[in-house]
Amino acid sequence: MDDQLLLPSLMRRAEQLYGDREVVSRLPDKALHRYRFTDFARRAKQLTLALQRMGIGPGDRVATLAWNHYAHLEAYFGIPSAEAVLHTINLRLPTDDIVYIAAHAEDRVLLVDEALLPLLEQVRERTHFERIVVMLATKPVPDGMLDYEQLLAAENPDEFEYPEFSERTAAAMSYTSGTTGRPKGVLYTHRALVLHSLGLALAESEGITSRDKVMPVVPMFHVNAWGMPFVAVMMGADLVMPGPHLDPVSLIDLLERERVTVTAGVPTIWLGILSTLDNSTQRPDLTNLRSMLVGGAAAPPSMIAAFQERHGLKVIHAWGMTETSPLGTVSILPRELAAAPAEEQLLSRARQGPPMPLVEIRARGETGVVPWDGRTPGELEVRGPWVAKAYYRGEENDSRFTDDGWFRTGDIATIDATGSMQIQDRIKDVIKSGGEWISSVLLENALMAHPAVAEAAVVAIPDPKWQERPLACVVLRQGESATGDELREFLGKDFPKWWLPEQYAFLQAIPKTSAGKFLKSALREQFSPAREAQGPQ
Ligand code: AMP
Repeated sequence: MDDQLLLPSLMRRAEQLYGDREVVSRLPDKALHRYRFTDFARRAKQLTLALQRMGIGPGDRVATLAWNHYAHLEAYFGIPSAEAVLHTINLRLPTDDIVYIAAHAEDRVLLVDEALLPLLEQVRERTHFERIVVMLATKPVPDGMLDYEQLLAAENPDEFEYPEFSERTAAAMSYTSGTTGRPKGVLYTHRALVLHSLGLALAESEGITSRDKVMPVVPMFHVNAWGMPFVAVMMGADLVMPGPHLDPVSLIDLLERERVTVTAGVPTIWLGILSTLDNSTQRPDLTNLRSMLVGGAAAPPSMIAAFQERHGLKVIHAWGMTETSPLGTVSILPRELAAAPAEEQLLSRARQGPPMPLVEIRARGETGVVPWDGRTPGELEVRGPWVAKAYYRGEENDSRFTDDGWFRTGDIATIDATGSMQIQDRIKDVIKSGGEWISSVLLENALMAHPAVAEAAVVAIPDPKWQERPLACVVLRQGESATGDELREFLGKDFPKWWLPEQYAFLQAIPKTSAGKFLKSALREQFSPAREAQGPQ
């Protein structure tokens, strides 16, 4: 009963029970690489041994700068099996941030994709890795670097012994990709990641089983690809890794070709896939795809409905954060609504849903914890065995963690009587108009339900009379047109008059964050009064 919950134990299970399961990876040249869990376990063991030979041991940080593929999967297990900490660096961060987090984490070794060497070149002078190891090398590696394959080839996997140590040891770490201030580090223990994997395997969440083929579109550098690689290895599900090819056509091809059953990613990815599916004359066969996990930003209800109605595909909406490993809530249709009309089911599925087992949520308003009435908003607080209790090295700990052990998310949410949570906004994105709050998220979702709108982001702009007013930034679908007046009238069906944006800016694209979310700070800056010359029409 005192067995420690360790990631290497998941690998041992995969090796013993599911050696024939496949990992399929799309390489930079678009070729598909395939191997089995037996190969994965052997090579992950060799990586552990190679790291130990370099002097890497308990607590040392080993960084990765890599897309989703089999060698990155080996790092996911090979590094924690050496009792070291897997630090996945977000390759889309500004180079200054990459330099900052590599120094902050004190990464000793870096595993980097050959395809990302140009990016590494931009930061190399300002970083201090003791060793740099190149993965997926197709030619001799640059001077001073090591070839991952040669390193592995020098190790005998039979010398690997499954380790025993405390489950509270750190296995991995991520940095927040906040748009203001420095990124903050979050450590994940072995225990947290194993429990989070069990959570993902529950039928009441993603229900991952050994019959699944899981394709994480969410990058392995974004909160551990939401735990998908860990749960796939634990449960013996095949893995399909898209590599750097994240355009809709490549993704749809992989989903169809490999008969993927479960996939996961942020809404912008699915919006792109939806419009490609809508416009394609030849229908791909996606009948195996049973679930698309969408989170990281609010999934527009119109998108959930469109996938269901036009393509027979099921979106599961989930909420989480870097600080919550990441899954906190998953929106599964409650049994009370099993026979409800489609519109009512959609309203429920579009919410962020109830907390996962072992996770607790509450929302705090100005006068304390708010009632679960589905109406009263407050800042969402969360706790549970895979929720961080502090930031690495203590930054902002006082302001983000309560005295009684809850993490303050910075999200504004309502919670209904069934415990189902709905995100209204980020505290920093909510629009404060005449002393009241306007939810940018609800306006965006409504705008994206308009047939001419591909993407919409709503931000606050300063207003002399009301303090702030909403500005709608809209990207129209190809070949479609709509005016600000038409959009305003469209919104008028669902919202009070004082919520309706007066101003509409039609853009070619909405700027995105390193995690593929709308970068609202850039829009606020672009449309601030000082830049009025380029302002909205
Ligand atoms: P990150 O740490 O980069 O994963 O970002 C976490 C933040 O993304 C949360 O605090 C939310 O503001 C936002 N987020 C994540 N999932 C959702 C969702 N399903 N709906 C709305 N916002 C979300």
